[in-house]
Amino acid sequence: MSQQKFNKARFVAALTRQWQHAGFTSPQQLSLHHWWQVLSGALNEVLTAAPAAAAGRKNQRHVNYLSMEFLLGRLTGNNLINLGWYDDVRAVLADYEVPLGELLEEEVDPALGNGGLGRLAACYLDSMATVGQPATGHGLNYQYGLFRQSFDEGHQHEDPDDWQRDRYPWFRHQVALDVQVGLGGEVVEGAEGQALWQPAVMLKGEAWDLPVIGYRNGVTLPLRLWKASSDTPFDLTRFNNGEFLQAEQNGIEAAKLTKVLYPNDNHEQGKRLRLMQQYFQCACAVGDILRRHHLAGRTIQSLPDYEVIQLNDTHPTIAIPEMLRLLLDEHQLSWEEAWHITSRVFAYTNHTLMPEALERWDKRLMRSLLPRHMQIIKEINRRLKQVVTRRWPKDKALWRKLAVVADNQVRMANLCVVGSFAVNGVAALHSELVVKDLFPEYAELWPEKFHNVTNGITPRRWLKQCNPGLAGLIDETLEGEWANDLDALSDLEHYADDLVFRERYRNIKQANKARLTRYIARVTGIEVNPEALFDVQIKRLHEYKRQHLSLLHILYCYQKLLENPDNPHFTPRVFIFGAKAAPGYYLAKNIIYAINKVAEVVNQDPRVGDRLKVVFIPDYRITAAELIIPAADLSEQISTAGYEASGTGNMKLALNGAITIGTLDGANVEIAQQVGEENIFIFGHTVDEVKALKAGGYDPKKLRKKDKVLDGLLKSLEKGKYSDGDKHAFDLLLDSLTKNGDPWLVLADFDAYVQAQIRVESLWKNPQAWTRTAILNTARTGMFSSDRSIRDYQQRIWQAQR
Ligand SMILES: *Cc1c(COP(=O)(O)O)cnc(C)c1O
Repeated sequence: MSQQKFNKARFVAALTRQWQHAGFTSPQQLSLHHWWQVLSGALNEVLTAAPAAAAGRKNQRHVNYLSMEFLLGRLTGNNLINLGWYDDVRAVLADYEVPLGELLEEEVDPALGNGGLGRLAACYLDSMATVGQPATGHGLNYQYGLFRQSFDEGHQHEDPDDWQRDRYPWFRHQVALDVQVGLGGEVVEGAEGQALWQPAVMLKGEAWDLPVIGYRNGVTLPLRLWKASSDTPFDLTRFNNGEFLQAEQNGIEAAKLTKVLYPNDNHEQGKRLRLMQQYFQCACAVGDILRRHHLAGRTIQSLPDYEVIQLNDTHPTIAIPEMLRLLLDEHQLSWEEAWHITSRVFAYTNHTLMPEALERWDKRLMRSLLPRHMQIIKEINRRLKQVVTRRWPKDKALWRKLAVVADNQVRMANLCVVGSFAVNGVAALHSELVVKDLFPEYAELWPEKFHNVTNGITPRRWLKQCNPGLAGLIDETLEGEWANDLDALSDLEHYADDLVFRERYRNIKQANKARLTRYIARVTGIEVNPEALFDVQIKRLHEYKRQHLSLLHILYCYQKLLENPDNPHFTPRVFIFGAKAAPGYYLAKNIIYAINKVAEVVNQDPRVGDRLKVVFIPDYRITAAELIIPAADLSEQISTAGYEASGTGNMKLALNGAITIGTLDGANVEIAQQVGEENIFIFGHTVDEVKALKAGGYDPKKLRKKDKVLDGLLKSLEKGKYSDGDKHAFDLLLDSLTKNGDPWLVLADFDAYVQAQIRVESLWKNPQAWTRTAILNTARTGMFSSDRSIRDYQQRIWQAQR
C-alpha cells in the first residue's frame, strides 16, 4: 500500500469543473466559503475517480463498525494531511491567491455525535484505514448535529446545528445501495406456518458515504451514513384531490427519523423516535452487509468467516434480532442454524457501568414498533433461561438479573452479551469491572468472551494536524515516520534532558498558548495572561466528571489570593472549561451557570488582576478541542473512580504535553503506568475506597462540619456572593453536594485534590522540571494511538473466530 500521487493537472481540472458547475464564470467570484466547497468537491471527485488500494489481506474479515454517533470534526484539512497533498494543494491555491489555512476555517464541524463515544468511532475509522483493515462504518446522516451552545447571562442556550448535510461536499450518495425498512404492523402466519412480518410503513434508507482516508497508504474506507426518506414522498392523487397539506406527509414523516441526534451522553431516555432511529440504522446496515455477502457469491453459512459486526455500545443492539429475523424468515434457516451464524458475527463494546446509561426498552413499545423482533427476543430469553437455570437451579433472583426480558423491559446490554462472541471494555480497569461488577455470572458462563481493548486516539488529527509546531519538532528530531508508528515517540526520552530541545518544546507550547489566548479574547472578550498556568477541563458536563470539584478549587484559589493579595509566590492560573450539558440535565446546567457566575466575579475583581481568570469557552466541539489541547499545561481528569470507562481527552492532552491531575479511573491508570508516577498528579479515593465509603454510609454533612475551609466555600455560594445576592441560584448544585448525599464524592475528594494542586504548583515553579515532565508525557504516550487499539481488536477479537 502506498501513497496516492498528487496529479496537478487532474486536480486543477476538477477544481475548474467544480466552480463552473456551481455557476461561477471566473474564480475571482468565489468567496472563501465557496472555495472550501469547491476544493472539497474537487478532492472528492479526484478520489472517487482513482481506484483506492484494496485494504487488507485475503482471509481478513470485513469489519462493520456500527455506531449511532461519529463525531468527525472538519474533514478537508485532515484529508489533505492523510493524503500527503497539503503542500501541493496549498501551492495550487496560491496561484489563485487563496490562502489554504483560512479556507479550511470555513468548514463547519460535522458534529454527528455527543462526546467521547462518537469521537472514538471517528478515531477508529481513521486507524482502520491507516492499518489497512477492511471496514465500513455505519451510522446515521442526521440533519441536525449536536446543538450549538452559547451563554445567556451565564445560562446555557441551545441552537439547532443545521450543518447543511444537503450541500456537504464530501458526501457521495450511493443511489444503488438503497435499503427498504419496515416499521410497526403485525406478525401473521404464512402458508407453511412460518412467521410473516407485515409492517405498517415502509421507509427507504439512502446510503450517504463519506470517504475515510488512510495515512499515506492509498486506502479509503466508506463511512456510510443512512438517511431516511420515503419511496412515495409525494402523493399525487391526494395533491390533485386538493389535500395539499397531507400530500407531502409521507416524505416528511420519513425524513423526521434522521432529523436530530439525541443530545444525551451517558444517559438513556427510552424515547420512541430514538428506538425507531436505532432500528432504522441496524436494518440498513444488516441489509447492506448481507447484500454485499450475496453479491460476492458466498453462502449464508459462511457469513461469520467474512464479516464481523462491532457494536459501539448497546445503541445498535437490534441488529442482532434483525439478523436472526432475516436468517429465519427470509432464508428459512432453523433457529439453531440462524443462532450459530448470528452469535459468531457480533461483538460488543461496553462503554459504561452506570445504571442510568444502561439501555432498557419498554416491552410494549418494542412490540408495537417491532413485533417480529420482540418475538425473537423472547425466544432468545426462553433459551437463555434454560442455560441459566441448568447452571444455577432454583435461583430466581439470579435469573431476574440475567434475563434479557424482565419487568416489562428489554435489557440491551444483556442481549448483547448473549448474542455476541466477544465483549470488551475500553480500558484495563473498566474491563476488569465489567467482569467483576457488571456481568460476573455471564463471565462465569462464557469466560472466553471477555476482553479488554484500551481506547486510543488518532495521532494524525490529535498531534500532526492540531499541533503543527510540536509535530514539526518531532519530525526534525526523530529519523523516521511517527504519525503511523506512535511508539517511535519513545526516542524523545533522550531529549528530555537536552536544554536546547527543552527550550524549543517550551516555545512551541508558549506559541500554542498565545494562539488560544487570541481565540479566547475573540469568543469571550476575556484577556488572559499567556504566561499563567493553563488549567484545562474539557469534556461533556456530567456529575461523574466533577466539573464542580474544579469549581470548588477555583473558589479556594480565589479565597487564598484575597487572604494574601501581595503573595509573590501565588501561582497565576487560567481555568479553562469547555462542556455541553444535555438540555434536560438541569443539575449539569446549574454547574455551568455556577462556573460562569463565579467567573464574572473573579475576572472583574481588581485585586486579582491577571493572576486568576476563569474562562468557559462556548460551544465545545472538535474544532475547539484542536485549539485548546495543544495549549494546555494541566489536564483535569478528575472523575469519581470507577465511573469514567476510559476517557480519551486524557490521552490527547498527555500526548500534547499537558500534565494530568487525575483520579485512578479509566485510562488514567494506564497513563500513570506509562508516564511514571512521578510525572502525573494522582489523588483521591480509589475504586475500592469509593465502594467502602459508600457502604459505610458516607455523610457529606459531617465532612463539611469538620472542614472549615470547605464549609466557608460552600457558604459563599449559598449566600449569593456570586449570584448578585440570589441565595437560590445554585440550589440544584448545592443540594446535591449536601442534602442529597454527594453521590459523586466531591466533598470526600476535595482535600486530596487541593493537596495535589499544591504539588502541581510546586512543579510549575520550576519551569525546567515542568517542561521535562511534559516532554516525558509526549514521549511515553505512544501506546494510546488508536492504531494500537485497532491492532488489539484484530488480534483479540476480529481474527479470533476464523
Ligand atoms: C475527545 C473528546 C471528547 C471526550 O473527552 P473525555 O475527556 O474523554 O470525556 C469529547 N468531546 C470532544 C469534542 C472530544 O474531542
